[in-house]
Amino acid sequence: MMNFDFTQEQEMLRQTVRKFVDKEILPHMKEWDERGYFDPNILKRLAELNLMGVCIPEQYGGMGMDYNSLAIVCEELERGDTAFRTAVSVHIGLNSLTLLQWGTEEQKQKYLVPQAKGEKIGAFGLTEPNAGSDVAAISTTAVRDGDDYILNGQKTWISLCDIADHFIVFAYTDKSKKHRGISAFIVERTMPGFSSRAIKGKLGIRAGNTGELFFDNVRVPKENLLGEEGEGFKIAMSALDNGRFTVAAGACGLIMACLEASVKYCHERKTFGKEIGRHQLVQQMIANMEAGLQMSRLLVYKAGFLKNKGRRNTRETSLAKWIACDFANKAADDAVQIHGAYGYSNEYPVERYLRNSKAPVIYEGTREIHTIMQAEYVLGYRQDKPLRNMLPAWEEK
Ligand SMILES: Cc1cc2nc3c(=O)[nH]c(=O)nc-3n(C[C@H](O)[C@H](O)[C@H](O)COP(=O)(O)OP(=O)(O)OC[C@H]3O[C@@H](n4cnc5c(N)ncnc54)[C@H](O)[C@@H]3O)c2cc1C
Repeated sequence: MMNFDFTQEQEMLRQTVRKFVDKEILPHMKEWDERGYFDPNILKRLAELNLMGVCIPEQYGGMGMDYNSLAIVCEELERGDTAFRTAVSVHIGLNSLTLLQWGTEEQKQKYLVPQAKGEKIGAFGLTEPNAGSDVAAISTTAVRDGDDYILNGQKTWISLCDIADHFIVFAYTDKSKKHRGISAFIVERTMPGFSSRAIKGKLGIRAGNTGELFFDNVRVPKENLLGEEGEGFKIAMSALDNGRFTVAAGACGLIMACLEASVKYCHERKTFGKEIGRHQLVQQMIANMEAGLQMSRLLVYKAGFLKNKGRRNTRETSLAKWIACDFANKAADDAVQIHGAYGYSNEYPVERYLRNSKAPVIYEGTREIHTIMQAEYVLGYRQDKPLRNMLPAWEEK
């Protein structure tokens, strides 16, 4: 049986996040965006609301809600600002769920439990100055030395670079094996030889923290190898299945924000003797936003359904991420258009939405990479094989 209803718990969750965004994020957003300030207190408040581990099982310190509840949190947070949804995407989607899927029991106790409680923050270091879409082009290395690995290299464009306590970092343990020689490691900020530096001058997500990580002979104990040696590429791709899901859900929230601002302005602004909402070409932009929101949501919640069942969802998640982010980007462009010249200034929030909407079309697989993936699935050039470790299905209480 198909069921499009949210549970009472999910409705309450949405209301909780919405109220939080209205009260504690939106009143400050213009100033934080202008100053390029990431407020770490927001993550502390999210932890107090038990949201930093919303879909992590209770046995690991989380709330034990389903994967679509994570989508609801992301949707509502991005209605506030992309920066905070991005933070949750990396903390839960890319890091905590990866520990849940691939971590040993010891790793889960040591790293996942404090992350799910929001006592520690997790991030994800894959991209390098010369390796984004082409993951196998990374050059960070991890060389075994007794009971440790020694990491050397650099990552860039890493969300929460200066904030996170733990990072899942990808490095070559055997370059000759190409992508099968990449391994994943849990690196702590306090490990000697680790440092980070924020990137300035970003187009959007200015209230977010993004930057570089440096590894200068960082000694990582062998217990911090995530999965097996050579499994890093698979781990990275499975992490992206979860990260992309949160990005797609967030994009729905951005479309909601565009609609809210645009509908309000349509009723306020008059031209040629009537509200601009009465002009058919303006209505077309509103209708396109609504269509984009509803279509994106269906794709997101379908991917969440597959996650809840413990089924592979790379194809469905990629489609949801591609389509939702493109719709959000277009919705933000149209929201500025609807506001005319006023949309071009930060007197209204829509210029921030437009700037923020661009990064999600680039990160976690660019628009072009997802387009290629979808074509390859349809043409039969790409198939998903079962993974050694699957993301655990949601266990209903
Ligand atoms: C705000 C922000 C936050 C980020 N956070 C993180 C993070 O937390 N962790 C992390 O690891 N990374 C993060 N990233 C990096 C992001 O994942 C990469 O930017 C992304 O994967 C694209 O890589 P690239 O920028 O190197 O572009 P490139 O891979 O160099 O691509 C450049 C252009 O070429 C196109 N292209 C590349 N290959 C192909 C192809 N085969 N066919 C067609 N077109 C192609 C791309 O679509 C793009 O248009 C973040 C980026 C941003 C902007």
